[in-house]
Amino acid sequence: MKEIPTQRAESFYRPSPALPAGAWDRVPPAERVWRWYENTAQRRLTPPAGVLLGERIYARINHNRWVADCVCGSAQIVTPTDPRFACPECGYGWVQITFPANPEAAEAEVSARAPHERNWWHADDKAWDRPGPPAPEPEKEPGRGPADPTPEEPAPEEPKPEEPAGAGPKGSLSR
Ligand SMILES: [Zn+2]
Repeated sequence: MKEIPTQRAESFYRPSPALPAGAWDRVPPAERVWRWYENTAQRRLTPPAGVLLGERIYARINHNRWVADCVCGSAQIVTPTDPRFACPECGYGWVQITFPANPEAAEAEVSARAPHERNWWHADDKAWDRPGPPAPEPEKEPGRGPADPTPEEPAPEEPKPEEPAGAGPKGSLSR
């Protein structure tokens, strides 16, 4: 299934059929989501002017798309050719996106799978939905967010004694 490429911002955020195919060719790839969202929302939207220094988010492959998650819970398709992020939903941005050193290698790593099973996370990404080793769901203390590390606890073993045959309730003796 290697002939199905992983979606990037350039291939996903394309002008509507009413526009010329190359209408957004001069728009930087990270800003095309703003054009696309503007068209969807049918109102003018302006990307943030500044840059949030020190803020970084991770890119991941989700269902065969390079995706970055916003702090507001929204997400968008991103691209390693222009690794910046600004959210047309809440206005967060611009922030730098951390891609792997070799995005093509990450794409190749999942390329044998069907598109909906192509998921990949950066080694340092602590995303809430990243599959880890199977562990029981720990009891969460109030106020603890998903960013907290998951403590590793051994699975509690509850012995389930088999009901001995014939040991029914009292008074049920057979005659
Ligand atoms: Zn947002």
